[in-house]
Amino acid sequence: MDEPEFLFELWVCRWAERAWPPTGERDDDTAVLVARQLGVQSRRWDTLVIECDADALAARAVFGDERLDSDLLHVVRHAPATYTYYRNALPDPGYPWRYVREAVHAAADRDLVETRRGQGNRVELRRRYRYPDWVNRIVAVENKPDLTASAARALSDQLERDVALGLADEVWVATRAAGDGVEPALYERLPVEAGILAVDGEQCSSSASESSSRPVGEERVDTAWNATALAVDEPGTRITERPDGGDYDASAARFEYADPEWKAEKRRAIAERAYERGWRSFLDTMRPDCRAFEIRDPDVPLPYCTAKERHVTAAECRGSCPSFGPEPPAWRRKGWPVDGGPGKGFQRVLNRQRDRRR
Ligand code: SF4
Repeated sequence: MDEPEFLFELWVCRWAERAWPPTGERDDDTAVLVARQLGVQSRRWDTLVIECDADALAARAVFGDERLDSDLLHVVRHAPATYTYYRNALPDPGYPWRYVREAVHAAADRDLVETRRGQGNRVELRRRYRYPDWVNRIVAVENKPDLTASAARALSDQLERDVALGLADEVWVATRAAGDGVEPALYERLPVEAGILAVDGEQCSSSASESSSRPVGEERVDTAWNATALAVDEPGTRITERPDGGDYDASAARFEYADPEWKAEKRRAIAERAYERGWRSFLDTMRPDCRAFEIRDPDVPLPYCTAKERHVTAAECRGSCPSFGPEPPAWRRKGWPVDGGPGKGFQRVLNRQRDRRR
């Protein structure tokens, strides 16, 4: 991902965390969780906004920071209140029971359920906590700061697939505002169900926090086109092959149906991964041990390089960077960069920040 797109994406994540939904007020019972670069199989969305029931999200916390994969979800969602043989307690998984037994043991190892040996040495389980239904809606956002008409054409194919499948409740495209809105051609190119967000371009340059007239974190995003709610509870259509439509391509498109149960399971798995990762996880793979690396504001964690005097991407910020300079060991003993330098303090602040957002 190039620099403008990466930083633009971080701005959109930050804005969504703060100001979602774009078309109204967030009510007190709703919490918003934002993640980036997540999806299913071959489809990965830039930004995911998970609208959650605030109380249920708090109840989810007892299951720990790590995600529950689909096998663990199968166990914790159906674990009974009293000790029961696991094959009697859990629904038929549609695959061999021995994998379920492994998942029961994995859940017990993480203290998600309790197990014991019952009659005939059978594995019995009971729940420790009730797994809450914490996800209300999942919204997918594609970030394209410079969405020209030809780029919109390419993106529209992907969005049409998203709309047909209906895995997310809404799909949006965020693009840099042009004048008072967005390029008029975009309204024709993108599927009518996809919403369009026009993001104030001044805020999203590599030197935004230094040059912008608006305070950091108060970016302006307007709704250029409203998204249509998709039918997530109904069967979806997975487009597996599509003819390119050229003069010599008379092949037929291929489709598969995605049943509502498959969609519900995928939605839960996506939400769990979003819960684990949030949108700040990109910092885990960057170079906090380079002396030029800075996060100037933990609330708007744009990675900044003092050597290059601009924000940097994860791709360029690595050991092979020609400007890389190792941190002096003494910095590791100090706190947050403002008090002395990156290192452990940097990690501590970000961990705290991540916890608070959950
Ligand atoms: S000098 Fe290179 S490695 Fe160090 S912060 Fe800048 S971009 Fe990252």
